[in-house]
Amino acid sequence: MDRRQPRAQAVAVHGERILVVGSDADARSSAGPQAEVIDCRGRALLPGFIDAHCHVLAYAASLLAVDCGPDAVSSIADIQAAVRRQAEITPAGRWIRAVGYSEADLAEGRHPTRWDLDLAAPDHPVRLIHRSGHACVLNSLALRLCGIGMEIEEPPGGRMERDPASGEPSGLLLEANELVDRTATPLSREELAEGLRLASQRFLAAGITAVVDASHANGPPEWELLRRMRQEGHLLPHLTSMVGFEQREAAAGWREKEGGDGLLELGAVKILIKELGEDIYPGEDELAEMVCQAHAQGWQVAIHAVEERAVAAAAGALARALAEAPRQDHRHRIEHCAVCPPPLVERIATTGLMVVTQPSFLYYSGDRYLRQVPAQRQPYLYPLRSLLGAGVRLAAGSDCPVVGPEVVPGLYGAVARRSKSGQPVGGEEGISIGQALGLYTSAAAYASFAEGERGSIAPGRLADMVVLSGDPTACPAGELLSLRPQMTVVGGQVVWRAGE
Ligand SMILES: [Zn+2]
Repeated sequence: MDRRQPRAQAVAVHGERILVVGSDADARSSAGPQAEVIDCRGRALLPGFIDAHCHVLAYAASLLAVDCGPDAVSSIADIQAAVRRQAEITPAGRWIRAVGYSEADLAEGRHPTRWDLDLAAPDHPVRLIHRSGHACVLNSLALRLCGIGMEIEEPPGGRMERDPASGEPSGLLLEANELVDRTATPLSREELAEGLRLASQRFLAAGITAVVDASHANGPPEWELLRRMRQEGHLLPHLTSMVGFEQREAAAGWREKEGGDGLLELGAVKILIKELGEDIYPGEDELAEMVCQAHAQGWQVAIHAVEERAVAAAAGALARALAEAPRQDHRHRIEHCAVCPPPLVERIATTGLMVVTQPSFLYYSGDRYLRQVPAQRQPYLYPLRSLLGAGVRLAAGSDCPVVGPEVVPGLYGAVARRSKSGQPVGGEEGISIGQALGLYTSAAAYASFAEGERGSIAPGRLADMVVLSGDPTACPAGELLSLRPQMTVVGGQVVWRAGE
């Protein structure tokens, strides 16, 4: 990923940085006779992968929650059984958290209701979180504890489903997590540390050496917690956290007081556009106002926008901010950009915006896209090749816990454009393996202004690297999925090896 020297035989590391990249002889002579030598046996050594968009605390929590993902359950009855098992080992009254369901993957083809969950666990408050993280179902006890009844007002941009006959809340909340977050008991410190250790292992086993937390509500309490967890060694990959829009004033003070030790870097201001059908919240004008403020204050801005309407609103708001106050090298980002027809690709390119997207969704959710997205719109799904062709800087992340953090399915999705069942998903938008690797390394570093530190193997960079079982650039697209990380190095330390 270093253009000046794209390939080499050996790397010498001193302390946490790369010293020399070159031949075996170069590396040996600069490292000296005392150096520890690691023979990769001809396998591929790449820059450590960077997950440019994930949710670290939610991922940690999900690893401790009842698994209701598509590999674990296939019906509402399965969800009930899993919740019931958890209720049997949880003291009555304590919250049960279950995560990962998607109504499209359930035999019933609908969201569960409070009444479904009541049958499984009447005496525990239950929160069942949708795979997207943007919806959840509560049982009756949880609804009561959160004060959600007939007369509750829905939060801006959110929606609460009601039983059509009685008008009672069905338990399903869309884009309304704030109604629950205040009440649902957070994890204890010990639980969180355990969840982060598990998350850290999964990142390292995926060859990921740096992560960007893109959670839109992040502020000082989250940073303090994550920083301490890093300090105590529970989370090994480097960490950058985005800053919630409302938290941007607090961020300056926090950075001054706590942020100088490299345990946690602050990144872009994150703005969430809530999308419900064709409605977006905030609306265009309010969004533009927010973006202009953050931009004028010098922040990099990252906007969550999935569907076309939201992507257009994000691009429009950023274009307006840049027209009012032009700035070089802003690296403003649109996160996800799942549906993007050619005129919008053009607009993003001419505005000079980055896109940070999730190619592994093509693999994990491709079959659902083929079922649910109208045929004439399928060509606009994750148009990676068009975006790159138009000159857009493109980077990638996993968005875990929506799916796991593994990078290999993302490389496969970006290059082969095939779903889990092997169906082609917009094959014309496939990119080369070199470009795909860039999304998770050099471009991902660039997306956080970190290209001088990571994202390539070059002298002076951090020694963050991954050994893969084979050379992805010499591997047929259809076989990319069989590649496995073998060893992960963070800051010159071997922190993970396969089979240990
Ligand atoms: Zn996200």
